[in-house]
Amino acid sequence: MEGGQSSGNSSAGAGSGRRGRIVRRYFLIFATLVGGSFVISVLMEMGFRFQETRQNLEVVHRQMAELAAVRIRNYVEDVAQAVRIAAPPRQLDNRRLTDDYAFNLRNLIKTIPAIRDVFAVGLDGREQLRVSRIGQSVPDTSADYASEPFFTAARAGKTYFGPIIFPPDSLEPRIVISVPIEPFAGEVVGVLAAEVNVRYVWDVVQGIHIGKSGYAYVVSGGGILVAHPDLHLVLQRKDLSALPQVAALRAPGSGETGTGVYENLDGQRVLVSYQRIRSIGWTVLVERPLMEAYAPLLISLGRTGAILLVVCILAVGAAVRLGRRVVMPIEALRRGAARLEAGDLDARLHLDTGDEFEELAEDFNRMAARLQDAHAGLEHKVVERTQALERSLNEVRGLGDTIQAVSASLDLQKVLQTIVVHATELSGSDGGLIYEFDEDAQVFRFRAGHLLRPEFIATLEAAPPTLRDSIVGRAVMMGEPQNIPDMEVDASSAFRTPVLAEGYRSILAVPTVRGDRLFGGIVLGRKAIGGYSEREIDLLRTFANGCTIAIEHARLFLEVAQKNTALQVASQHKSQFLANMSHELRTPMNAILGFTELLLDGIYGELDERVRKPVEQLQINGQHLLRLINDVLDLSKIEAGRLDLALDEYSADEIIEALQSTVRPLAEAKGLAFHVSTDSKIGFCYGDGRRMFQVLINLVGNAIKFTRHGAVQVGITATSDEIHYTVRDTGVGIPPEELGAIFEEFGRGDPAVAKEFGGTGLGLAIAKRFVTMHGGRIWAESTLKKGSTFHVVVPRRVTDTGAMQQ
Ligand code: ADP
Repeated sequence: MEGGQSSGNSSAGAGSGRRGRIVRRYFLIFATLVGGSFVISVLMEMGFRFQETRQNLEVVHRQMAELAAVRIRNYVEDVAQAVRIAAPPRQLDNRRLTDDYAFNLRNLIKTIPAIRDVFAVGLDGREQLRVSRIGQSVPDTSADYASEPFFTAARAGKTYFGPIIFPPDSLEPRIVISVPIEPFAGEVVGVLAAEVNVRYVWDVVQGIHIGKSGYAYVVSGGGILVAHPDLHLVLQRKDLSALPQVAALRAPGSGETGTGVYENLDGQRVLVSYQRIRSIGWTVLVERPLMEAYAPLLISLGRTGAILLVVCILAVGAAVRLGRRVVMPIEALRRGAARLEAGDLDARLHLDTGDEFEELAEDFNRMAARLQDAHAGLEHKVVERTQALERSLNEVRGLGDTIQAVSASLDLQKVLQTIVVHATELSGSDGGLIYEFDEDAQVFRFRAGHLLRPEFIATLEAAPPTLRDSIVGRAVMMGEPQNIPDMEVDASSAFRTPVLAEGYRSILAVPTVRGDRLFGGIVLGRKAIGGYSEREIDLLRTFANGCTIAIEHARLFLEVAQKNTALQVASQHKSQFLANMSHELRTPMNAILGFTELLLDGIYGELDERVRKPVEQLQINGQHLLRLINDVLDLSKIEAGRLDLALDEYSADEIIEALQSTVRPLAEAKGLAFHVSTDSKIGFCYGDGRRMFQVLINLVGNAIKFTRHGAVQVGITATSDEIHYTVRDTGVGIPPEELGAIFEEFGRGDPAVAKEFGGTGLGLAIAKRFVTMHGGRIWAESTLKKGSTFHVVVPRRVTDTGAMQQ
């Protein structure tokens, strides 16, 4: 019981683990599918947005850079254009500039405020004219520009934009723009150079604001900072060629414009866009801290992330809640099922989820209740069946006891007592009795009782019930059991009052009848009202039958015993008579034979032939009669217990010899062969030699008598304990059914044979008696018309006890 319970629990535990896993797994799959796709879509969305934002940012940056570049280029180009317009001279003096060229230059300075100085250089590289906004408009004749780039480039016919210069006398950086002085296209007579203030570039740069802290700056081709919102940096003439974003500009293949993420001078990560101004060799860079550039995106992403997180948390919470809502009822159902499995039929579920789970729980409860009912019913039935079985078993035992008592005991009183005890107890009665019907007095006599008070028995014995005034009488007359549910109501019985006084209310009376013979009846009483069931009546009928058989057995036995005793006495008398008679017959018979002998011997004179024949016949018949008398005498002596063996040492060999000499002539007279075979000399035995001889002569005599032709053979084998004689003939044989009877007195086998061969049927009976008295055995084997073999086995030495056993 314990083991079963624990194993049930453990299996339930394993099942719970399994189910737990299933729920977890489904939850995970669900969460992964739903949550995962949601998260992935949001992440993808965020990725795309990041990409888009970045592209937008880059576009804006590039546009800013482009705008700045355009403005700077326009400004510088406008100046260059003005210079170029002012360059051609109206007149030349020997291919040299005349003074009125200075007028051109003054106009130029006037119209273009950014130009500080403008000067014309002759082909020899010497300054010829100079107009200055601040200083003296006197050419510096000492300077030789022949190898200066601005000179060589312009002399070659090109417009030249020089590198930025930071003159020591001014805070304003300048560049030199030079153009060829060509009175006619292709005819260069000098170079016009203007020192242009590029402060304006600063203004452009400072006007550019991207976001909160985005800024633009300009570097020259050599990496020198040209313009920057932070003027200090410019004034320091910062060389930014080592800055990665500036260095990248020099990389081959870097285009007109581009974008990248680098670190700025403050070591901040910045998004950088650049735009080259090819004509001047400068580059405008627009930088904006990455964090700031992406701030809106990051904020938006953060918001999305937060929403995602919140949604995820809500989803997980909802999933957990939902899971709980699903798992908990399932778990409750599972626990209930496990309890049922473990045999706890009281298990009930209480779910008030208000959904299918609650319905399922109700179904479960109904099922459990039915199971419980069925189980209870089953248990009840098992108990009932067990009780019924027990009852049947008890009945069978009781009947068994009764049958045993009936068959084993011839003590009628004991048998009746056994029956009444079992009948009373098995029927659950409070008292029971057996009556025997007294034919002479025509009353029922009390024979045996159980659980009855002696006083009550005395009452019944004093006034025995009759056929008419009692319930048992009624049962006998009707030949049917009488079942009285309440004695109080039944008025027919003369014993109503004493029975009620004893407290009996239900009475059952069953007659014991066999054929026409009435033996009596069994009566049972119960103190409860209600009578007896069919089953109990049937049971009692069986006991009644047992009773009948027992009474009949006992009667028969009594009769047999009486007859046996009478027979024994008669047999005794017969034997006595026969012994006496034989003795009485022998004496005159001997006398008759003696006188016949004397007559035949001629003592009383020669006999006439006519007389001799009858006398001879008389002698033969007389001898036959004497033998018969002797046999009868022997037998009756044996039966009367008056014949004892004369035990002594005897020689078996001598017996065989005597046998041979006696019977050989008889055999030969019938034309039969006669053989005797012995192992060897047998020697001395202890027993009655004369009687053994009588036995053998009888057997051999029969063999010769019942054999018409053939041979008679006697065989003797001996062991240290026993002598075995066989007498074999080739005679008529004995029918198998007669083999047992031939050893009985007057047993004569086949009647036809007996008639033909004559005889008394005493020889074998006497032989058997003698052999048995020796403690030996005798038997015959025979095949009809083929011959018979008689066997005699006797102990070599008869013991006194064995000798007298019969
Ligand atoms: P009896 O020979 O005087 O009739 P027994 O007691 O000697 O009495 O034999 C009983 C019967 O057994 C015989 O009548 C005979 O039928 C049968 N019987 C005995 N010996 C033989 C035998 N050798 N062959 C055939 N029948 C035999």
